[in-house]
Amino acid sequence: MSLDSIDRVAVLGAGNMGHGITEVTAMAGYDVTMRDIKDEFVEDGYESIKWSVEKLEEKELIDETAEEVLDRIDTTTDLEEAVADADLVIEAAPEDLDLKHEIFTDLEEYTSGDTLLATNTSSLPISDIAEVVDSSERVLGLHFFNPPVKMDLVEVIYGEDTSDEAAEAGYEWVESIDKTPIYVRKDVRGFVVNTIVGPFGGEPAFMVSNDEATIREADATMVHERGYPMGPFELGDLTGIDVGYHVRKEGDSPIPPITEEKVEAGDLGQKTGKGFYDYEDGDGADYEPEDAGDFDWLRVEARMINRAAFLVGEDVATPEEVDTGVQLGLGFPEGICRRGDKIGLDTVLEKLETLSEETGADRFEPHPYLEQLVEEGKTGEEAGEGFYSYDDDSLGPYHDLNYDLEDGVLSVELDRPSRMNALSDDLLAEIDDLFSNVDTDEVRCATIEGAGDQAFCAGADVSGFSDADPTDLMDVTPAFETVNDFERPVLAKIDGFCLGGGLELALACDLRVATERSSFGAPEINLGLIPGGGGTQRLTRILGETRAKELVFRGNHIDADRAEEWGLINRSVEREDFDDTVSEFVDDLAGGPPIALKIAKKVMNEGEDASIEAAIAMESQGFGLLSSTEDVLEGTAAFAEDREPEFEGK
Ligand code: NAD
Repeated sequence: MSLDSIDRVAVLGAGNMGHGITEVTAMAGYDVTMRDIKDEFVEDGYESIKWSVEKLEEKELIDETAEEVLDRIDTTTDLEEAVADADLVIEAAPEDLDLKHEIFTDLEEYTSGDTLLATNTSSLPISDIAEVVDSSERVLGLHFFNPPVKMDLVEVIYGEDTSDEAAEAGYEWVESIDKTPIYVRKDVRGFVVNTIVGPFGGEPAFMVSNDEATIREADATMVHERGYPMGPFELGDLTGIDVGYHVRKEGDSPIPPITEEKVEAGDLGQKTGKGFYDYEDGDGADYEPEDAGDFDWLRVEARMINRAAFLVGEDVATPEEVDTGVQLGLGFPEGICRRGDKIGLDTVLEKLETLSEETGADRFEPHPYLEQLVEEGKTGEEAGEGFYSYDDDSLGPYHDLNYDLEDGVLSVELDRPSRMNALSDDLLAEIDDLFSNVDTDEVRCATIEGAGDQAFCAGADVSGFSDADPTDLMDVTPAFETVNDFERPVLAKIDGFCLGGGLELALACDLRVATERSSFGAPEINLGLIPGGGGTQRLTRILGETRAKELVFRGNHIDADRAEEWGLINRSVEREDFDDTVSEFVDDLAGGPPIALKIAKKVMNEGEDASIEAAIAMESQGFGLLSSTEDVLEGTAAFAEDREPEFEGK
């Protein structure tokens, strides 16, 4: 059982999840058969896929035609036909254990012993589903998030009997369809993501039930002060209050009175027109930043961090996996382990202990792993170690960016895809740290790109603005200048939105190559702001005042072709040519003479702000300096011998 042996996939169920999983599987190049129990269900699922891939084609988000993707999809109502030749089966039928037992009993009969059998269940234990299969080592969970086409995360879950071989094959397959897998090494209720999200909705509901907070106060604080994409009550209304209610009931968890009341009244959220907010007669989730008040957010976050301690302490997942899970699965602004390390795990523990004493409720009982970390003095970032270790001598650890240094090319990826790679304070600090501390002798050139398929970077993360002091914001972050001053050429690889702070980061780079679908803009003015990362000045220098003012004053977007025409970017290319074009640039930069490139960058950047005489003097000085380098000897010799030069930076 290995990834190499997976060619054909079968998806059972053409509903919400089944059709989405079928779509992403086919988009990744696999042949896939989608099965449901009635023709009309199969047809509905297929129509939804068709509509979606046609949209993706229209927006140039796929490199082939919708028809080519659809050609790889077969549909059937016959189970045996669907799975007989499949190497991987993913079951996405309704959440009912008896039904899943029936399906897996049939699967054992109709598939060969090598076929990987996965379930997309959200809340049933994988081990319970697998108990009807003799060869249960090949049964695992592949938990996609809704909608699969947009959500990047897949939890790869071990049942009690799942073999490493099966889990690894599942993990690699998820990577091969361009999604991000995380292992869930034990079959715990809620897996990783739903384990953490429980207290996010549950604790505020207890607080409101006890008159310790209001709904609007809770939502406004969590969104506007703590940066979550949605308030807990707003989220409850969106997913359905009954959904959380049933999960708690099945898990024997206490149910907040307000949740019980809503379910009894049939006010289940958006789908019934009324829930915590009123969507029929009212304005829906209409909380405002000023509703934030004194809501005790630490009580909610402390419980989530305690759950993370459980997951890490019981070896269900690593801190990195938990953090990837909540960022990609829930759109959290940063990982919950990371947040714990920033708050201080001693503060978190104290909060839990106080609440536990005051209320006697089990849910506040600190997990032994959290107690152990604090006892060992591993209280977080300030202490140098917490969930993560913060070692000053080495680069990182970075949470919001990834980097790789290979053959002299420093490839940097802004890694907040759930926030369109928006620049949080952490991300800016990490960019600054990396470009300030990486050993430039090892680097010939650098590239910066955005993770996910939507954006290079959609701007600054404004969620923290409303409670920030104006003077905090006036401290312009050094990250942009650090990139601008980096001693090696930096190229921005732009695919998707490049806006606000993201545009400023791209402007701080030396070169910019973009896909045709990308768009550029400085929308700060629409928020009553101006660009604050050098944008007003660099735009003027790069575009001239006329065009720069158009961008800054109007706050509109321009497309990549116009950006190329204006000289904002070096190239606008079709998506399928993007990687090749970037490689051509990178090959030249990485193979070029490092000292000459460094001096060229310096005199061109600094010369811009000097008088022409001073600038030319700078250039002459640089020229003189270079004439004594070994690289010049090599360059001239190679030219004479008609061969490629090999520059060593000496
Ligand atoms: P759904 O009701 O939209 O779709 C289920 C489909 O399965 C229906 O079309 C149904 O006709 C079909 N079906 C019934 N019996 C079948 C059988 N024997 N063989 C094949 N198909 C059969 O449900 P959904 O939301 O797609 O959920 C499916 C699974 O995915 C559940 O286990 C659920 O817990 C899980 N899940 C759901 C979400 C979500 O947000 N909806 C997210 C992650 C996981």
